[in-house]
Amino acid sequence: MDDEDPEDMDDSSGEEPEDDEEDGPKGKLNDRQKMLYDHYEMIVEEFGMFDQSAKGNGAHYAPAKLNPFVKEGMVCSNCVFFVGGQGCEIVKGIIEPNAICKLWIIPENLITIKK
Ligand code: SF4
Repeated sequence: MDDEDPEDMDDSSGEEPEDDEEDGPKGKLNDRQKMLYDHYEMIVEEFGMFDQSAKGNGAHYAPAKLNPFVKEGMVCSNCVFFVGGQGCEIVKGIIEPNAICKLWIIPENLITIKK
């Protein structure tokens, strides 16, 4: 007799933690950066992605050739919003891995600037 309880086979508890913060890029941020991350996400949800301009809706994006902080690790490819290739979660357009913008959120361990 097979009296396997179907509930034992159900591996969904119904309370799946939505919180993958510790595994994702956000897990490497300090508390201030985590809050900043949440706020940028909310802003983009409400108003759409930032453009690359230095205006009110812009991220003041600086392409790689104008980024003076490449050696210090302040680059898009270290930013939690970089999605690989040439994309960003919150800034429109082509995003170079060695570029930077004013919205950067980079884990402290990837920045080598002393102060
Ligand atoms: S620094 Fe971050 S937020 Fe800014 S364009 Fe690069 S990947 Fe996007």
